[in-house]
Amino acid sequence: MIRLFVTEALEAGSALEPSPEQARYLTQVMRRGLGDEVRLFNGRDGEWRARVGAITRRGCRLDVEALERPQAAGPDLELLIAVVKRAPLEWAVEKATELGVARVRLVTTRRTNAERANLGRLTAIATEAAEQCGRLDVPEVTGPEPLEGVLDGWDGRRLVFCDEGEGVRPMLEALPASEAGAILIGPEGGFAPEERTRLRASPFVTAVSLGPRILRAETAAVAALTLWQAAAGDWRDGLPGVG
Ligand code: SAH
Repeated sequence: MIRLFVTEALEAGSALEPSPEQARYLTQVMRRGLGDEVRLFNGRDGEWRARVGAITRRGCRLDVEALERPQAAGPDLELLIAVVKRAPLEWAVEKATELGVARVRLVTTRRTNAERANLGRLTAIATEAAEQCGRLDVPEVTGPEPLEGVLDGWDGRRLVFCDEGEGVRPMLEALPASEAGAILIGPEGGFAPEERTRLRASPFVTAVSLGPRILRAETAAVAALTLWQAAAGDWRDGLPGVG
């Protein structure tokens, strides 16, 4: 089933034109024709069944029929990740979306070696991943912002700091029981000593280890999100129908 993310409100009887890229994907790549079914979601109104109502040279019209799944929020889980090179960053955003993060916040640190990120491209990647994995929303991708400022303005939620340094507890032991919070992953060069010191001393920070091997930032992100979802997030729920 093809799922498309749209920005328009969704309700029975409404009609909309998907973006030219979506229309091309639908009618040319996937060869859907008049009357064929698609699913639409916008992050607010749930997932709707719709049908191709018209195909024109410039695009197509989708007629919205019925609600298939009501909107439901996932865990309020944020990934804070240092800007790394383009390919691993894109990979991390795609995987974080599949793993159910609410937001990806890019940060810069002392040893961040890239200062720029293409937010438009990262958002497009998050959107495609959301369409593919069945989510009802698209995680927001923001930043980059300096880590120091992020810590200065922190609201007190639990921040799980993936710390490749010595003397920290395994993540599984140190995880909070709550669904809300954030995970922090550093850059290729790791955290500078003064950053590590500040983080470890902050009351809202829990420093955790992901084992004896040094993982690449994108691997660390996926590993940490997996542990969080399994121990504190929505993987505990199982699928509908699981006793
Ligand atoms: N250059 C650093 C490694 C950085 S790895 C060094 O050689 O020490 C990039 C980021 O992934 C780290 O900052 C950390 O957030 C996370 N990470 C990687 N391996 C980890 C581990 N074993 N435990 C906890 N975090 C880890």
